[in-house]
Amino acid sequence: PVGLGIRLKHTIYALSSGFGKCGVAVVRISGPEARVALTRMCKRVPPPRHAELKKIKDPETDEILDHGLVLWFPGPASFTGEDCGELQVHGGSAVLASIFSALSKLENYRPAEPGEFTRRAFYNGKFDLTSVEGLADLINAETEYQRKQAVIQMDGALYEKYSGWRSILSKCLANIEAYIDFEEDQDIESSVLNSSKLEIKELHASIQKHLDDGCRGERLRCGVNMTIAGAPNVGKSSLLNFLSKKPTAIVSDIPGTTRDVVKTDLDVDGYPVNVQDTAGLRKDTSDAVELEGINRARAALDTTDLILVVLDAQIVAKACNLQAAMTNISSYIDSLGVPALRDAMGSRPDGGIKKCIVIVNKMDLIEDKTLMQALKMEFGDGLCPVSCKTEEGMNEMMQSLSSCLKELCGNPSSENPCFTQPRHRFCLEETCSALSRFSSYSDSEVDLAAQEIRNALFSLGKITGHVTPFLTMHRWGSFIICWS
Ligand code: GDP
Ligand code: ZN
Repeated sequence: PVGLGIRLKHTIYALSSGFGKCGVAVVRISGPEARVALTRMCKRVPPPRHAELKKIKDPETDEILDHGLVLWFPGPASFTGEDCGELQVHGGSAVLASIFSALSKLENYRPAEPGEFTRRAFYNGKFDLTSVEGLADLINAETEYQRKQAVIQMDGALYEKYSGWRSILSKCLANIEAYIDFEEDQDIESSVLNSSKLEIKELHASIQKHLDDGCRGERLRCGVNMTIAGAPNVGKSSLLNFLSKKPTAIVSDIPGTTRDVVKTDLDVDGYPVNVQDTAGLRKDTSDAVELEGINRARAALDTTDLILVVLDAQIVAKACNLQAAMTNISSYIDSLGVPALRDAMGSRPDGGIKKCIVIVNKMDLIEDKTLMQALKMEFGDGLCPVSCKTEEGMNEMMQSLSSCLKELCGNPSSENPCFTQPRHRFCLEETCSALSRFSSYSDSEVDLAAQEIRNALFSLGKITGHVTPFLTMHRWGSFIICWS
């Protein structure tokens, strides 16, 4: 990656382990005078990367503050690229307060700002921007697949992809610039121009393919938005409570109990899901609060990735045969009057994107289950007969849900790395626009075409932090990255 080689005056320190009383706390120190703290507080600096048990003392009074493990990581082979030290001390608040007070007595020492260690690592070329983002995502990862995606990004998968693309562009640009310089020598050089054009065309297709990933990486990073919808009293809130394994929503047999959208986060087989329960969809209510709830439910359905439509098995079972049941289900969904539901249902039969699972609830009240079994055969993963009361059919429902989530998020371990942030998408789209413009120029406008390659290089470089010709502020989570 890019090292800006900035030498900073201050040595910074911070608690690197979590807050709250714990057995061991890790205090990290980084900066030009990191060695000073270790010498003055622990007397002798241990050999690089070796942990040594030491008495840790106040540099002014020589009072013993704690016993702990001391580590020394001389730069540039350290996390930040600077000289670093680490004190592993007891995690009580008084111990930590005394260590911080001791460090603050050293000249040019100050507490680190949030994300400052990582920012210094970025400045020193230890990480590119996508790896820094991967690290932040890793710290925030709550599910297994989020962790996998973050670790892959932190390890430089996106960096390598984009750097590879940048080298192709740089090579083509060099060839085209040579062509411009030696234009008289047409015989030799026009083949160079043509091969560069071909290469850029292929690259453009690869970037476009990377962009058209159905938002998998972004969705995995932020969680799949899933909405439970259906008529009043079919068991939507019971389903939410089953999924969240706790009484998140109020369950009652009074229709119209759930009025506002109730949200909670789930981990389904390692996939993150933001699920919301909505007010029952019905047309014949005069209750103003319930109506507002229904409007909110409709709005939620428009923006969601995955809809669980809950139906009452007793209503489905009224049909006399399979065909009638299927017609019933779709006209019933129509009758709920939500276009988003229709669209989601519509994408099912042709195997399109799975955005909808029909949950037929209250199966415990159905004696003859043959019709439901036939429906299940017809819809496959798209329909799940269950009972929130007896929990029958729930394992199969969870499997359907899991395979649906897999389609929506992919598997980061087995696929090409996906981009994960809107800012990546923005820069990739910019790159593609530049490459489209490149292709639109004729051979006589090669100067203009070359400029588009520079534009594409610039846009790709913004993702990794390769190019920074003006001061930019990028803020996300607790990290603020500022580079110039
Ligand atoms: P919602 O209005 O769609 O959110 O439905 P609720 O979850 O509030 O449930 C409505 C009523 O149906 C409550 O009395 C529940 O106890 C009952 N109920 C929910 N699921 C089942 C089920 O699987 N079997 C039976 N017999 N009753 C259920
Ligand atoms: Zn409800």
